[in-house]
Amino acid sequence: MITEAILDYVQRTFNECRLMATSLTTLLTPYAEMLLHKWMQKSVRWKSTKILPAILSPLPSDIYRVFDFKKTCIVDLNCHTCSCGKWHILGIACGHAVAASRHSNIHEYGSDILSG
Ligand SMILES: [Zn+2]
Repeated sequence: MITEAILDYVQRTFNECRLMATSLTTLLTPYAEMLLHKWMQKSVRWKSTKILPAILSPLPSDIYRVFDFKKTCIVDLNCHTCSCGKWHILGIACGHAVAASRHSNIHEYGSDILSG
């Protein structure tokens, strides 16, 4: 009896998620878009500077130091990491990553930059 109720709940929830996903017209969910919009507004004045590699490397370096007026974080746009940990935990670029992306002239916040 309880097992059937749980199974019914899970099936309804998955069906609702599937229906919502098929109705999306953007790459991101409404929650991810809201969060990213918030980070874009909040990080407008954050200071980001590119960190040059210590040794010459054939691999492109996209590592930035971002100061948010409280702390400094290190963002690696290639590896999709930030020292604050939010990018890794949420799977959505944090404000530091958005500030670094702005600095590096990445204007497309598509799925590749947002993926964890
Ligand atoms: Zn961060």
